[in-house]
Amino acid sequence: MLRALRQAKLYGHLVARGNRLYHPGGNEPVCSLQMAQGMLRSGWLIFQDGKYKITTEGQQANDYEERQSQQHRRCPSCGVLIRLKKTLRLSGSSRTFRLYECRRCGAHTWDETAATRVESG
Ligand SMILES: [Zn+2]
Repeated sequence: MLRALRQAKLYGHLVARGNRLYHPGGNEPVCSLQMAQGMLRSGWLIFQDGKYKITTEGQQANDYEERQSQQHRRCPSCGVLIRLKKTLRLSGSSRTFRLYECRRCGAHTWDETAATRVESG
């Protein structure tokens, strides 16, 4: 889904061949025609002059997805982006700890996330 939107944004539009969608001149299918129809219904794409074009909503959805995938944390003292250094899962605990390191001041920041999934059984 995200890939298709990104390609549509990059190339301006996508074209259908068979039951797949391609970017202009592309040989690698970007998504299925079925998925494209779903995006048409969502208002992310419009079908015009035989081309699948991305809408403003589609661009916003794409931007949102990209932001989500590139989410970073910032150093509390210098405000620069910090890198995830280590992920720790304590045995017997449902929590995940993440260690971030600031490249500027070297400060370590811990982030604690409770596991969203409860193991069944
Ligand atoms: Zn820092």
